[in-house]
Amino acid sequence: MNRKVHIVIGVFVSILIAYWIDGTFYQDPWVTLPFILPWETNYFSFSTMVYAIIGGIIGSILPDVIEPPDHYTHRGFFHSVSMMRFLLGALIVSFLIAFYETWVWSVFYVIVGYVMHLLADGTTPMGLPD
Ligand SMILES: [Zn+2]
Repeated sequence: MNRKVHIVIGVFVSILIAYWIDGTFYQDPWVTLPFILPWETNYFSFSTMVYAIIGGIIGSILPDVIEPPDHYTHRGFFHSVSMMRFLLGALIVSFLIAFYETWVWSVFYVIVGYVMHLLADGTTPMGLPD
């Protein structure tokens, strides 16, 4: 799967999650109703958007930087199901810490981008190793 597709998926999902988190936890749960779009509210903060976009881009590129697609090590540990389990744990931990340390949102969205990269790779015939 090429880099552009990974970035689009990673950033798109990061923005959706950011919008949901801002609306649900920081403002008003009802803003996350599907019919209200992010740009129709003022609930979506600028810093959140920066974290989501930059983090989403870095996270969705990262797996293929560590294990380049044209290299024989591609889809090793860093593209594996074990890595995915670790990331899901890290996602929850960073989510909880981020409410106290705002900069940790950047880490959270890097993980979101990374997870989306692995999910996207997992849909290809080659799949992910254990
Ligand atoms: Zn990959």
